[in-house]
Amino acid sequence: LLRIDKEEVLTRVRSGGFKKILLQGPDGLRNQLVELANYLLENVGDIEVIIDGDRSFGGCDIPFHKASKIGVDAVFHFGHTEFPATEEQLSLVSKDIETVYFPVFEDSEVNRTLFRSLIRKLGGAKSVAVVYSIQYRNQYLEIVDKLRKEGITVYKPREFFRIEKWQVLGCNIGALNKVREKVDGVIVVGGGLFHAIGVGLYSGLPTILVDIPRGVVSNIEKEIIRFRSLIAYNIEKAKGVYRFGVIVSTKSFQFNYSVAKYIYNYINNELEKKGVMLVMDYIEPETIDYFPSIEAFIQTACPRISIDDISNYRKPILNIEQFLILIGKKRFEEVYPWKEPRLFRE
Ligand code: SF4
Repeated sequence: LLRIDKEEVLTRVRSGGFKKILLQGPDGLRNQLVELANYLLENVGDIEVIIDGDRSFGGCDIPFHKASKIGVDAVFHFGHTEFPATEEQLSLVSKDIETVYFPVFEDSEVNRTLFRSLIRKLGGAKSVAVVYSIQYRNQYLEIVDKLRKEGITVYKPREFFRIEKWQVLGCNIGALNKVREKVDGVIVVGGGLFHAIGVGLYSGLPTILVDIPRGVVSNIEKEIIRFRSLIAYNIEKAKGVYRFGVIVSTKSFQFNYSVAKYIYNYINNELEKKGVMLVMDYIEPETIDYFPSIEAFIQTACPRISIDDISNYRKPILNIEQFLILIGKKRFEEVYPWKEPRLFRE
């Protein structure tokens, strides 16, 4: 079970001397924030606690604009680690508001049936990389240990960076690319397909998901192939388009105005087509549909909008990398590689 450690939060409130804080968390943790708010109010006394009621998608989506309006001392973000923001994004963050990250960890153990199922799927692979989404760090460490006892060579961290070295985000597969050539495939310890799809697509390696909350191990090869085809189709479709919408997001660390401006200029000047700039907070198919005169969109926010959600959009919606493929500055295989042989079993 994923549980917020209330005492850890209380200690941080006291050590920071905060008087007014904004709590933010992803869907699965939001209800726990109510309990946490009451706990802090009872134990600190002189404090104001406000909960962000909107959806939050990651460490890239810290609500600084709300925090400034309400006038809090700090934003407490639960469920993710700090996002590797760009200079441009950091320059817009108020220095008066502190951001404190509380990753939340699953504490269950990896049972024997789950691990044996993983060994079967590995299909004789001798060398693997193991990565994880932050909530499942404990299970990741356990799996690495067990794989080594089975005589399998495992690539795992020696050091930790701001993002822990072998942790993955939906848009960043960390140091995985450095060991691509050394391994037969990759194991993702996580919950749900999201991180595993990103790892499989961006690394090109055979990918197995150990889904801890569901207690299932799966080879996600078919999903990777399906997403690769959808992306390729979307890029091809956008090639024939004349009118583009270029979207810049106001979400804190999804804000890429300079890149959006570059794309906008490129469309108008180099491609000699028509581009128009749009600014949005939350990008979704219903909102996009209100622009029938625009034939395709380039969004500079979360790259996964143009992967996981593309079948929900009626028109092509490309991310930055896909735009670079469209204009010939990157090859498809460079962004979405593919490594043979594929040893993993169904
Ligand atoms: S994948 Fe999207 S939502 Fe997740 S961290 Fe990256 S930008 Fe944020």
